[in-house]
Amino acid sequence: MSSGEKIKFLNGKHEVPDFPVIPYIIGDGTGPDIWNASVRIFDASVEKVFRGKKKIIWKEVLAGEKAFNLTGNWLPKETLDTFRDHFVGIKGPLTTPVGEGMRSLNVALRQELDLYTCYRPVRYFEGVPSPVKKPGLVNMHIFRENTEDIYAGIEYMHGNPDTEKLKDFLIREMGIKKIRFPGTSSIGIKPVSVEGTERLVRQAIKFALEKRLPSVTLVHKGNIMKFTEGSFMKWGYALAEREFADKVFTWDQYKKITSTQGEKAADEAQSVAVSQGKLIIKDVIADAFLQQILTRPADYSVIATLNLNGDYISDALAAIVGGIGIAPGANINFDTGHAIFEATHGTAPRYAGQDKVNPGSVILSGALMLEYLGWNEVASLIYKSLENTILKKKVTYDFHRLMDNAILLKTSEFADAIINHIQTD
Ligand code: NAP
Repeated sequence: MSSGEKIKFLNGKHEVPDFPVIPYIIGDGTGPDIWNASVRIFDASVEKVFRGKKKIIWKEVLAGEKAFNLTGNWLPKETLDTFRDHFVGIKGPLTTPVGEGMRSLNVALRQELDLYTCYRPVRYFEGVPSPVKKPGLVNMHIFRENTEDIYAGIEYMHGNPDTEKLKDFLIREMGIKKIRFPGTSSIGIKPVSVEGTERLVRQAIKFALEKRLPSVTLVHKGNIMKFTEGSFMKWGYALAEREFADKVFTWDQYKKITSTQGEKAADEAQSVAVSQGKLIIKDVIADAFLQQILTRPADYSVIATLNLNGDYISDALAAIVGGIGIAPGANINFDTGHAIFEATHGTAPRYAGQDKVNPGSVILSGALMLEYLGWNEVASLIYKSLENTILKKKVTYDFHRLMDNAILLKTSEFADAIINHIQTD
């Protein structure tokens, strides 16, 4: 048996050996339950497709509580080095204390490896219980900027000397009068750059063109945060017009030649783009978007947005198509080839060790990873087997409570049911 080889990234492309070594973090809380279930599915599907000619060689790396207990370090340097060396990895959820203590390990991983795109596909699987009438209309690809915005972690706690110095600078030197209660305010800083915006929007547009999707929508709150979120929109449009001039038609271009306003202009611009065989680039304000994913989801395809908006949007969309129990994600730097695939939910600590929660998010994140490596047949087999299992109404507690006459399975039993489909369908 081969001990495996590293994946390489040469001339903008991955070279994937037949026995690639893939590092994984098992995760905290419910992480071990869902990882142990998911890895059996990955191995079974690779075996079914390649019959031993290809196989993933898993390499555990430490992070989170397990890392702290074993090494005294929440995110050992060796873990980062291993992800850097192997290019592609996968992780379970990791604990982050709220309002105190260490910063998020997930955010640290994204920033250390400069994984600037958080890619989250949102699609409906037949049979999944949904709170809306037509969940099948949702088919979106979220490109969330992953390294900037309020998530950069530049925050100052009220009372600390640095915070008071900063407030003093803002009030005395900059003449800021808008801090309503300066004596007790904490401060957060929201960096949004041209480079950060452009590299994210560029990938969203490339993706839409490659997959022949109808639109890219820039989602922002630029009416209020004009220089950060508003600039994200402007820089996004400018990049689209500059780098993809012959392939896209932007709503911004259309706004300059029409007197029509609002949604109607967007619809008209869409028609012009279709008539010219071009990809439409449009924008929408984040709060309106959160309404429209309920009222007219079919209008949206690829979404490019800032970090915090992307976080809210992903969870809202995940809820429409069945909840965060089956919401996959990937953190990617398309330029260096580094990518870490992960469930979008957290550690759900109250269910830890109960063999209870839905492993769907990690299973689908793994399927995304297999697609990213070009093992598309394996990914398709996983999608089909997961869907067939749910269609048979064999589900974990989160779906069971929303379905009539469903069969309640534990995490491990749900994996067994999927593997059964992988082997026999
Ligand atoms: P959470 O762990 O995502 O759990 C919130 C709720 O989501 C759960 O109570 C459960 O809802 C549902 N849920 C989560 N995972 C599920 C699964 N696999 N199957 C079915 N339902 C699932 O959010 P949290 O409680 O706010 O956060 C807990 C910890 O996770 C925090 O330390 C947080 O920082 C961390 N976190 C990590 C990541 C990450 O690693 N990427 C992401 C988010 C949060 P019901 O109880 O209603 O069934």
